Amino acid sequence: MALSRGLRCCQRAFAWVPVAIIALVVLWSYYAYVCELCLVTLSNPVEKVAYLTVFHILFVLFVWTYWKSIFTLPVQPDKKYHMSYADKERYENEERPEVQRQILAEIARKLPVYTRTGNGGIRFCDRCQLIKPDRCHHCSVCAICVLKMDHHCPWVNNCIGFSNYKFFLLFLAYSLLYCLYIAATVFKYFIKYWTGELTNGRSKFHVLFLLFVAVMFFVSLMFLFGYHCWLVSRNRSTLEAFSAPVFQNGPDKNGFNLGFVKNLQQVFGEEKKLWLLPVVSSLGDGHFFPMRALCEAQNPLLANEEQWEDDGIDEETHASLSGANIPSLFMDFSFGGQKTNGSSR
Ligand SMILES: [Zn+2]
Ligand SMILES: [Zn+2]
Repeated sequence: MALSRGLRCCQRAFAWVPVAIIALVVLWSYYAYVCELCLVTLSNPVEKVAYLTVFHILFVLFVWTYWKSIFTLPVQPDKKYHMSYADKERYENEERPEVQRQILAEIARKLPVYTRTGNGGIRFCDRCQLIKPDRCHHCSVCAICVLKMDHHCPWVNNCIGFSNYKFFLLFLAYSLLYCLYIAATVFKYFIKYWTGELTNGRSKFHVLFLLFVAVMFFVSLMFLFGYHCWLVSRNRSTLEAFSAPVFQNGPDKNGFNLGFVKNLQQVFGEEKKLWLLPVVSSLGDGHFFPMRALCEAQNPLLANEEQWEDDGIDEETHASLSGANIPSLFMDFSFGGQKTNGSSR
């Protein structure tokens, strides 16, 4: 007992290692840029002030979005999705699967759930004992059901879902800008050190490494950010890109696709001035999401709209693609809710 508790503690502590590595790299980059490049290497005071001002704006935005991605707790389904004691007893005492399905369907009738398991049943999490709202998945790392779960990210040691998806996207965007800015401003001095025009040994080491590290992170993050931009444009989560959500009429990977602008508003909200800041502005409460089918019923013109280009990813190819689209440095390797059994779909 004590041993398993000790192991769990070790596991929890170990999960912070990737975050600690990123934090150390960021701290070093701050020191190298501010002290070694701006204060020691740069001689022109105007250049110094300009470099430091832009750097600090980007640094604050980057750290702020990283912080929010790490410390915004994933949201669990509302109490009304949890089974009542009486329903739980009725469900557990029943051995026939078809009657169990009926019990779940009966409970779900009062709830706004439209997605189903692969065999058409109500999505139920037997670990959390709840009816899963649409787009909610169980994360095996966090051991909870997470609203609009996207994936579990080891680099922020947190589940990316409804509560922090916007923060995560902004974090990727600002890290790219941070790396790009460092690489662009350091390049001139990198050449000067490389050709021997500047000779300070200690600063040379930091400036050379700044450029290498910034370029390496930029290239890795570029692919991940591009992939998430594509997902947002289609209102799809990472899990849904690998396995299309199933509705009453069958699987439909475009089930939540409302068109580019509305898809963007689902994540960033309707107030454009909040789009670039890590503050809560996503639409809805994470339990119910507007669906393409419902929008079409309300506006028949949408039904004739050209279908989004087929991306060719389906459930069968998910396993082989899970490691191929994302660069290995930033691949979030734990897709906790992605088990194919009935309780996880
Ligand atoms: Zn669960
Ligand atoms: Zn998680």
